[in-house]
Amino acid sequence: MKQPFFYDITLRDGNQALKKPWLIDDKKIIFEKLVELNVQGIEVGFPASSETDFNACVELSKLAPDSMVVSGLARCTKNDIVSAIDAIKYAKIPRVHTFLTLSPFHMKYVLNKDPDVARKIATESVKFAYDNLLKENPKGQVQFSVEHFGDCRENLDFVIDTLKEIVQMGATVINLPNTVERCRPKNFIQMVERVINELDKSVIVSVHNHNDLGMATATTVEAYFSGAIQLECALNGLGERAGNTNFYEVAVALHNSGIEIPINLSKIYETALTVAQMSKVPIWEKAPLIGSDALAHRSGIHQDGALKTKDMEKGAYRPIHPSLIGRGDDEKIGFTSQSGKTAIFEIINRAGYPISLQEAIRIQPVVKEAAEKIGELPTSKIIDIYFSETFNVKGDFKLENFRHINDGKFEFEFTYKNQPYKTTGVGNGPVDACLNALKTNGFDVKLTHYEQSSLDEEILGAGSTAMSVVHLEDNCGKEVIGRARHGSTAVANIKAIFNALNIIYKEKASK
Ligand SMILES: [Zn+2]
Repeated sequence: MKQPFFYDITLRDGNQALKKPWLIDDKKIIFEKLVELNVQGIEVGFPASSETDFNACVELSKLAPDSMVVSGLARCTKNDIVSAIDAIKYAKIPRVHTFLTLSPFHMKYVLNKDPDVARKIATESVKFAYDNLLKENPKGQVQFSVEHFGDCRENLDFVIDTLKEIVQMGATVINLPNTVERCRPKNFIQMVERVINELDKSVIVSVHNHNDLGMATATTVEAYFSGAIQLECALNGLGERAGNTNFYEVAVALHNSGIEIPINLSKIYETALTVAQMSKVPIWEKAPLIGSDALAHRSGIHQDGALKTKDMEKGAYRPIHPSLIGRGDDEKIGFTSQSGKTAIFEIINRAGYPISLQEAIRIQPVVKEAAEKIGELPTSKIIDIYFSETFNVKGDFKLENFRHINDGKFEFEFTYKNQPYKTTGVGNGPVDACLNALKTNGFDVKLTHYEQSSLDEEILGAGSTAMSVVHLEDNCGKEVIGRARHGSTAVANIKAIFNALNIIYKEKASK
């Protein structure tokens, strides 16, 4: 078996489906995670889509390790292709990825072009991309995607014929996307197999499967065993609609099937937490491998089996040992001074409390200091620290009081570095009024996210407590999370703002 080629599309397909797409600094963080995972190819963006994305692609292609393929997406137009070449030419191995639909349905109703016209556009675009990219860099590559390949069953002969011409024009990678997952994996894989058999053996065949029916991982893994070497996946399964193929699931499934893969699997869990935090797409508790429940056991029979096979690579009731993907051991996690941020995250999360990786990183020094004094910390001690550091953040700001005056007007009393402030703010509700009041006093922060939830009654006992979560951004663009709980939602909101302020100003002071 040839080694699989992991081609990550988080920064393009994943990013374009986010409610708030990433800016360049966010993209850099994800890019670094992908380098740590050791993926072989990264699609860094769609350069013609915006100036921001173009600039991000330029930066990332300059950062790429020498052996990594860096690609930019381009429609089959000269403008898109030129823009992609200009954006990614700094990489040692740049790749232009151009695409056009060849599905009868899509050509007729969306593209509004006859098949022969579509074929001409596709072949000419590939030739244009090849000629112009190779002028810049002889190591350059061209990838062509048959958009909606999964819908090409009835005209597969035409598609294969077109692909043969596209290969002659210089494409070395042919991607076959299941752009919308509509039916059984086997039908799709049979079509992939036909393409592989008909094209020259030097051509790399790739699959790109969306997860509309929840079978993208299965389709991708089986396509690999049928000869598709390039696997297009996204971190946390991000992407349009139900997402793209989940990177971690494919990597672990191939590993468990005895395939040697180049991926640094131990980086998976931390990467997943970072991506969840940055995308604001939380990890579902039942998500395979990375969900909070994914490796946990509740029933007595399962717990018994789990304990008896605890240190073995193959567990009675789990697909992997958690350490394979960098997770703490599920049956027991204690925190010692040697433990890291993911251990804090796991312990708090498993105890049923909300925490982000960013918060785990922030409280890590306090937990570590306690562990250095006491030794291995029990869960209850870590939870105590979590509560004092998250719901009652000490710092320069102290909220004394606030009250509603009239309409949208509120009065706030607080101290900053022991100096008292009594101020009013007007706004659409107390949160808005509070931020306006702070701004008039020189404390300029922006609200980027707000949510309300109630903490689990099972954990806190009867009578649920409102929890407010605010994400505040300072004037340098740094975002922090503030939480607070209180019987009154309004009080919880204002306390959350002051908790976030104390975090922001503490971090400013330590710089
Ligand atoms: Zn896609």
